[in-house]
Amino acid sequence: MSDQEHADELAQRYGEALLPVFGRPQKVLARGEGVHVWDTDGKQYLDLLAGIAVNALGHAHPALLSAITKQAETLGHVSNFFASAPQIELAEKLLELSAAPAGSGVFFANSGTEANEAAFKIARRTGRPRILALTNSFHGRTMGALAITSKEAYRTPFEPLPGGVEFIAAGDERALAEALAPGDVAAVFAEPIQGEAGVRALSHDYLRALRRLTREHGTLLILDEVQTGMGRTGHWFAHQAVEGLQPDVMTLAKGLGGGFPIGAVISYGPEVHDLLQPGQHGTTFGGNPLASAAALAVIGTILEDSLLAHVRDVGRS
Ligand SMILES: *Cc1c(COP(=O)(O)O)cnc(C)c1O
Repeated sequence: MSDQEHADELAQRYGEALLPVFGRPQKVLARGEGVHVWDTDGKQYLDLLAGIAVNALGHAHPALLSAITKQAETLGHVSNFFASAPQIELAEKLLELSAAPAGSGVFFANSGTEANEAAFKIARRTGRPRILALTNSFHGRTMGALAITSKEAYRTPFEPLPGGVEFIAAGDERALAEALAPGDVAAVFAEPIQGEAGVRALSHDYLRALRRLTREHGTLLILDEVQTGMGRTGHWFAHQAVEGLQPDVMTLAKGLGGGFPIGAVISYGPEVHDLLQPGQHGTTFGGNPLASAAALAVIGTILEDSLLAHVRDVGRS
């Protein structure tokens, strides 16, 4: 069988074995190394997609390989009835990088949408009925994350979605102030740079207004940094470009594990810490030692190779 026949055969088997949610795949990929991937025909590509903002260290990075291998040799999964050192270390590291104050805490999930589900549940626990999200938002595909995602084509086929969500125009400070005024809004969800919308950055002025007005009304500011976090903007988290800006909750995933699935929710300060009570949320896989070790390797490499400064350098040129 020629390479081309082999590729055609795989594509046909894909169509017959997988549900059609993603449409026809562009290629069947065989391997990756650094910034390159190879398809099943042996053709090499420069990977500008990086697994949709996931492969923070490129493909097959030795530090990531070694961390995952070493961890898998000792302890891969333990359930959350038990703790593991990598999980604790990763939580501490994320609190440090996010400059979270005393009384902050981390919840681990397996994806961005799961991190946002947890944040949604934190918001519900305030007891307030309304949740605000922005036009052009994307927060994921599970029902709660979908409820705060604006795109009609994603939402409509799955209604009814969890209620109480309203969309306000991204960047419109007056609309924000009006929506918050009654004092019954649990949370505002925002991406500092709206990713799925076509990489639209919220202005620093609007981000500051989000912080000021939510604080004024006792509303949580929940920043979705699933795509913008983990160094992609030259800061650990995109909101750190705005001096002094600190959300009440931040969600992460994508680049966090460098390709190994992991998501995280950071809750800032003692007031948010206990909104989710023991037993009110959970996960089987979230925070397992393997995923935690992968994320620690990603963070360690970004630090050791001074990648934040590099991102800022190449971002300027
Ligand atoms: C990709 C993305 C999500 C969803 O993450 P999944 O891991 O695909 O569930 C949520 N929010 C933002 C901003 C994203 O870019």
